[in-house]
Amino acid sequence: MKKQTRIVNAGRSSKWTKGVVNPPVQRASTVVFDTVKEMKHATTHRANQVLFYGRRGTTTSFAFSDAMTELEGGAGCALYPSGTAAITNAILSFVKTGDHILMVDTAYEPTRDFCDKMLTKLGITTTYYDPLIGKDIESLIQANTTVVFLESPGSLTMEVQDIPTIAEVAHNHGCIVMLDNTWASPINLKPFELGVDISIQAATKYVVGHSDVMLGTATATSEYWPTLRESSYTMGQCTSPDDLYLALRGIRTLGVRMNQHEQNALKIAKWLSKREEVEIIFHPAFETCPGHEYFKRDFLGSNGLFSFVLKPQVVKNLTDFLDGMNHFKMGYSWGGFESLIIAVQNVGALRTATDWTYEGPLVRLHVGLEDVNDLISDLEEGFERLKSAE
Ligand SMILES: *Cc1c(COP(=O)(O)O)cnc(C)c1O
Repeated sequence: MKKQTRIVNAGRSSKWTKGVVNPPVQRASTVVFDTVKEMKHATTHRANQVLFYGRRGTTTSFAFSDAMTELEGGAGCALYPSGTAAITNAILSFVKTGDHILMVDTAYEPTRDFCDKMLTKLGITTTYYDPLIGKDIESLIQANTTVVFLESPGSLTMEVQDIPTIAEVAHNHGCIVMLDNTWASPINLKPFELGVDISIQAATKYVVGHSDVMLGTATATSEYWPTLRESSYTMGQCTSPDDLYLALRGIRTLGVRMNQHEQNALKIAKWLSKREEVEIIFHPAFETCPGHEYFKRDFLGSNGLFSFVLKPQVVKNLTDFLDGMNHFKMGYSWGGFESLIIAVQNVGALRTATDWTYEGPLVRLHVGLEDVNDLISDLEEGFERLKSAE
């Protein structure tokens, strides 16, 4: 089956849909049994998508897990109430006191916070590494290194990592390779073909796609799936069937949404690249983006999220640029149908293993599904305000 067909069908087994098009919302804490035999059967098979107790999931969550596994690959998918919970639980499932992990320097900020604030308390140390380190990751691997964590492209600055090279070195040293795969969504990268063991999604972003649900997933190879599944259960992770219903609905349009986000963002990035106010574009599909060659090699497409740096001399008052946007509203997160903008003055303060050499502020856009010409006018007027500021 081709990508767009898989998107339409993923998780829609008649086992879960029971005769209608979409898997219904099945809400449950208690599951009831009429006989001892039925109860014993459910208990024995509780890890394998049978109704047992609400925390183990219902048909709605089984359908969504199946959908994500079908799209991402791997052997199974654990569900979490946010992308951050998926990241922290995936790591916690595979580390113990005394271990060391390697974390990419351009990781999502709450991922760093978890390493610095929680793992430290548990006696687990973290070394941050340059996203472009490639095979030299070997020099950072210690005898007690258990997890090598990647996020590609990197948060805010969009560096694309050489995933297969890093994975191969990590595997030679017996480390588990985890990837925050949110930017690609489950359709624009094949993480397991590149050597990733656990692929994590903030489904909050493009999977849900409408900025109204928090949700996370972690999909694992058959080697790591049983441990991941059981530790998620042990740590009490479960998700609302209403939210999962919305996520399943989001999946159906993921392909067409991503194509439109991609086209709109490419047009805007091209337009920006010709503006005198702009120092550099960090869009994985552009040569100016560090790791662009790995994007071309590994990814099936891009999306609406990229960033650029403004020339310091044109920035009189950044607030004048950001205030008064008609379409690019300021807000965290991304992946919904609407356009968003954020600016970061000091990217260097968020990094410890790499240098940030640009003086001007970084602006990150999430390009939504609005008409691209309206979006360009919005930015054009923003540049006028930026220049006329006192
Ligand atoms: C948003 C995001 C997360 C966290 O997802 P939440 O659902 O907001 O917790 C993790 N990683 C990346 C790359 C993200 O953009």
